[in-house]
Amino acid sequence: MSDFRSGFIAVVGRPNVGKSTLINTLLGQKVAAVSPRPQTTRRRQLGILTRAGVQLVLVDTPGVHVARHKLGEFMNDEAEGSLQGADVILFLVDVSSDPTEDDARIADLISRAQPHRPVVLAANKVDLVSGVDAAENLQNYRSLLPAGAESVLISATRGDALNDLVDVLTQRCPLGAPEFEDDQITDLYEREIAADLIREAALLKLRDEVPHGLGVRIDEYKERENGLDYIRATLMVERESQKAIVIGQGGKMLKQIGTESRREIETMTGRRAYLELRVKVEKGWRNREGILEQLGYKPRP
Ligand code: GDP
Ligand code: MG
Repeated sequence: MSDFRSGFIAVVGRPNVGKSTLINTLLGQKVAAVSPRPQTTRRRQLGILTRAGVQLVLVDTPGVHVARHKLGEFMNDEAEGSLQGADVILFLVDVSSDPTEDDARIADLISRAQPHRPVVLAANKVDLVSGVDAAENLQNYRSLLPAGAESVLISATRGDALNDLVDVLTQRCPLGAPEFEDDQITDLYEREIAADLIREAALLKLRDEVPHGLGVRIDEYKERENGLDYIRATLMVERESQKAIVIGQGGKMLKQIGTESRREIETMTGRRAYLELRVKVEKGWRNREGILEQLGYKPRP
């Protein structure tokens, strides 16, 4: 098909603007962990959207933010890396509020890194504000970008204008054959998604008690013939006190995290799962490159 369009779309935006939500809604399935707390998305992952005449490969990037330790630096590298390889840059912002310094920094990065790449501004969370406020905030976001960037007001949760957004992105993609099969929606292995889902469930349950210091390692992931997946995972914390919190009184917290993440994993795979979780103190795990690699936080070639 000569008029088929296909392109890599770098989805960039500060933490919490709704990047993961948007990708999940577009794909109609959860491939990216969503959290009311920032920084759930730890590594680059692809969401593949194939429609008549087009394949959009959405690259969800970890939030661009000031690096405070090695994991932070790595997340920034990943975000910049996906800008370099993209056909189109999708800049996602939260239109329910004014631009922050981080928005300005990202806009800067976009303008500098890719002066000739098409940029689409998606102003998300339009469901949270009046039309007047949305229009005013949108103008402030637009002024951060070079002239000529197309903008669309959307709601990733309610689904507003998502077809318009797909159309705008499609128009900016180069002609070319699809890279992936039309039924493939992500390049991540299920075990990697499972680790993200466990981490997300834990962060939601723990609220602010174990900030950032929590990692998840999948020790074993087996598809058994009886249709039951067997998954063994370790929740890594940095201090004994955090371990106690994650386990909870009489193991109650860990059990809740297990129940919630098992449900999410089963929704993702469509199979039943048996999940075994344990908690381990691994001091300074965030700063040890070896463990980062083991966790899959490694730049993809
Ligand atoms: P990310 O850090 O950019 O990937 O953001 P997430 O996708 O994890 O979303 C952060 C929070 O914003 C979550 O609580 C989402 O439910 C919420 N959110 C995302 N999109 C919308 C939207 O269009 N409207 C509203 N009201 N909330 C949204
Ligand atoms: Mg995310």
